[in-house]
Amino acid sequence: MINPILGIDTWEGQLEIDEAVLKANKGMNDILRTNNLYSNPRNVEAFGGVTKAHGGASMFNMLSQKRCSKCGEWKNKSEFNKNKRYSDGYQSYCKDCMSAYSKKWSEDNPDKRKSITNKWRSNNKSLLVLLARTWNVLNPERKREINRNWNKNHPKQVRMMEKKRDALERNAPGLGITEKEWEQLKADYHYLCGYCGKKLPLELDHIIPLSKGGADEIENAIPACRTCNASKSNNPLIIFLSRRGK
Ligand SMILES: [Zn+2]
Ligand SMILES: [Zn+2]
Repeated sequence: MINPILGIDTWEGQLEIDEAVLKANKGMNDILRTNNLYSNPRNVEAFGGVTKAHGGASMFNMLSQKRCSKCGEWKNKSEFNKNKRYSDGYQSYCKDCMSAYSKKWSEDNPDKRKSITNKWRSNNKSLLVLLARTWNVLNPERKREINRNWNKNHPKQVRMMEKKRDALERNAPGLGITEKEWEQLKADYHYLCGYCGKKLPLELDHIIPLSKGGADEIENAIPACRTCNASKSNNPLIIFLSRRGK
């Protein structure tokens, strides 16, 4: 499922992208550090966006120190963000002071923050993809939880996407079934299962299964209760009905 904002195959990243950026960056640095991947220029290049944006690459330069112009402490240069605009290549505030300053500025300027964030996001889509994917890998439990919540809150979208995916996977003919067509079909059946006639929660069943060449269109659809849908499975309608008659 393509995330409309990130244009990638995930929606979790969109929901918690701020958290993802923070966690993925930390996770990425941990991975790079513990596996000594910084020594491979290719990795540095691949994760350049991350390291550059968050000062990870400054680990190369831990020998020299610098005095923070805000808190006045002497700290390793790795404790400062890189910034070409400064003569020594580092910001004058240390990272701690910088993040406190940024946080306060963000709180004082919510609108400006939003527009900067949006601009940054649209200019850094590929980095966001990397961060979201990394975050997903690093947080499998949380990812599942977010998936579950999203699915729970979007039952219609989930069902339509499942149908669409099924149809695509099977390369089924037909233009697909819209939400409106499906609602109308259920109304036509008086919200009863098309097979057993019981009033139960309804699922969309393809009369001729897509796997058997049936078209993914409303003429080939019928509302079915879970039991009928499951027992019909991929059998052609006539087989299902004759077996049920026994
Ligand atoms: Zn400081
Ligand atoms: Zn039924």
